[in-house]
Amino acid sequence: MQNEPDSCTKKLSLDTILARGATPFEPRTGAISTPIYQSSTFRHPGLGETTGFDYTRASNPTRLELEKTLALAEHGKYGLAFASGMGAISSLIKLFKSGDHLIVSEDLYGGTFRLFNEYYKNYGLSFSWVDSSDFGRVEAALRPETRAIFIETPSNPMMKVSDIKGCAGLIHKRGGFLIVDNTFLSPYFQNPLDLGADFVVQSGTKYLAGHNDTLSGFIVHSNDEKAESLIEAQKSEGATLGPFDSWLTLRGLKTLAVRMERHNRNARRVALWLREQGRIEKVFYPGFEDHPQYALSVSQSRGFGGMISFYLKDERDVPVILKEIKLILFAESLGGVESLITYPLVQTHGAIPEAMRLSAGVNSRLMRLSVGLEDTEDIIADLSQALEKCGKRNES
Ligand SMILES: *Cc1c(COP(=O)(O)O)cnc(C)c1O
Repeated sequence: MQNEPDSCTKKLSLDTILARGATPFEPRTGAISTPIYQSSTFRHPGLGETTGFDYTRASNPTRLELEKTLALAEHGKYGLAFASGMGAISSLIKLFKSGDHLIVSEDLYGGTFRLFNEYYKNYGLSFSWVDSSDFGRVEAALRPETRAIFIETPSNPMMKVSDIKGCAGLIHKRGGFLIVDNTFLSPYFQNPLDLGADFVVQSGTKYLAGHNDTLSGFIVHSNDEKAESLIEAQKSEGATLGPFDSWLTLRGLKTLAVRMERHNRNARRVALWLREQGRIEKVFYPGFEDHPQYALSVSQSRGFGGMISFYLKDERDVPVILKEIKLILFAESLGGVESLITYPLVQTHGAIPEAMRLSAGVNSRLMRLSVGLEDTEDIIADLSQALEKCGKRNES
């Protein structure tokens, strides 16, 4: 298999793999930075002969290097890179057929909900949306035709943690698959394949690329039986990652370890501060010892990541904060060097019907913060002055 990483590289530690990539230099020229093979097609040496590449939708050397590197980082045999996280998820769903049932985390990225609920439902797939942090509910949702459990952990945006090992055990008894969206923690903090997951999906747009400058998405797995059909699905669907975006993501991966350490540290500091603020009702952050799944989180992950969400006491504070913040940017997305604040109700989770949204906890007082790499004192000062303005509104 062309994109199976070699066994020698497998023994290196994650930080080393990330910094150096699967192939630390390009053999022909010695280039340390993987060249951007900006070519749609490749010359055949002769009839029936190939260099291993023929057309970039099928395979491209820059993309292949990225796919190998991410496979190593996620402890999988196979990596597939897509033009976005949604492209990856959409291709992975091609494993299922009409009549199959999937159990899905009820609070997950709104785009994934939309893809399943507005499109794949029409092709005969059915979905049960459950609070996957409650193992009993996952179990209760199983049907004879259940073929997969799809979870996000920590979830987006409520930061609920689901038991990866437990869910894997449950679905494997039925011969189905566990799919984990690992976007929030990245392979640096969590390796779902080691815990029994069959497929990891990632939005590389977030922490992996890390600079708010490109989109990308991934599937990583070790399933020999499905390897060919997933490569075929990737090639056939065509939502593959271009050479330049592959290179940007590869460059992002080189610093993933140091960025994740800092995101983790900064988010902890900001979460603790937010918790003390009078205008804030509740802070959702898996690193709090009183988070309902704190013990689970510590047992399956090596960090808590850079994401925080919180309920304000008064929804009228939302527009004030969004208007008054200066350093933190009011923008969708997460995982980049810049701190971003999101209002899930109308942004990331706008596609989810109201009743479901509310039952998942996404109400009009919820805000989500992606803590960047700025000095935490500057981040806190910005939030502090915005919250102060909210107080002034009440006085007037
Ligand atoms: C952003 C995101 C996606 C979708 O990824 P894109 O790269 O935007 O297509 C999927 N899952 C999670 C958890 C995300 O945050």
